[in-house]
Amino acid sequence: MTQFASKKLNDLIHALKMLPSIGPKSAQRIAFQLLQHEKDIAMHLSEKLKDAVEGLRSCNTCRMFADEETCIICQDENRDLKKICIVESPIDVVSMEKSNAYHGKYFILMGHLSPIDGIGPDEIGVPLLESLLAQGQFDEMIVATSMTVEGEATAHMLSVLARKYAISPTRLAFGLPVGSELEYIDQNTLSRAILGRNAIKEE
Ligand SMILES: [Zn+2]
Repeated sequence: MTQFASKKLNDLIHALKMLPSIGPKSAQRIAFQLLQHEKDIAMHLSEKLKDAVEGLRSCNTCRMFADEETCIICQDENRDLKKICIVESPIDVVSMEKSNAYHGKYFILMGHLSPIDGIGPDEIGVPLLESLLAQGQFDEMIVATSMTVEGEATAHMLSVLARKYAISPTRLAFGLPVGSELEYIDQNTLSRAILGRNAIKEE
């Protein structure tokens, strides 16, 4: 990497490079731009980043990012309280919300089953999910894990769990590309996949 005769500058560029989809050239450009022309924006950004990292917590109920113990979605009583959608990560909630085709509750696994990496049901919050299901308010569980081998294995485990509490498990409709993650699917496709969701068959 090019050295810029300043350790602070090098450190900043190095830190920017760690961000997703920022390569060495972009990191360099952003650093110079911020320091030369946009010091206010740089200060604002660093404050907001610190606030978010230090202040955000995980919702007690669904594990979405939240400012308080319970997130805004869980506090909203106008949602469809009989449906729960299971997703792998917080950004999937954003995708589901943008689709405008789903208005129920969520639960975020923060991952998927991956026995090779030692990630089993306990590591993805299944005990907490089970305690929610046991309350008896849900009649449908929409499983929106990714269309990968691990995502499918996770979906199967969740469908067994749903049936234990007399909840119908459903899966987003086929037509979604194999291996796809919700984040990368356009709104219309996701909306159709939600509306056309299928029951997960019992094996
Ligand atoms: Zn919540």
